[in-house]
Amino acid sequence: MALNEVLEVGKFQKRFSEFAKEREWEQFHSPKNISMALSVESSELMEIFQWMKTDESRELNENDLKKVRDEVADVLLYTLRIADLLNINLEEAIESKMEQNAQKYPVEKSRGNSKKYNELD
Ligand SMILES: [Mg+2]
Repeated sequence: MALNEVLEVGKFQKRFSEFAKEREWEQFHSPKNISMALSVESSELMEIFQWMKTDESRELNENDLKKVRDEVADVLLYTLRIADLLNINLEEAIESKMEQNAQKYPVEKSRGNSKKYNELD
């Protein structure tokens, strides 16, 4: 199923674009700034988990799950925004990256270990 069918990516990109335009924030929405905003939101996501034990991160309480949901949405929104600004076709980008990952991490070499591709024998 195409990403557009799952998420209606274009709809959210248009809404975010209009949101920025109404506030005259387009001047701030350079790819550089959005890449930084994306990193900040990703850090906000990590902050929720920062001092949790690994097992606790798998069983979030309702309050933490709400926070995670909000930060995941922020990360996704800025991802959509930077793709929009740079005319990146997300469907093609994801397909391409997954193919690259499959080549970098062949099942027979990667199964059950977390080594980076350049450390696989
Ligand atoms: Mg946030």
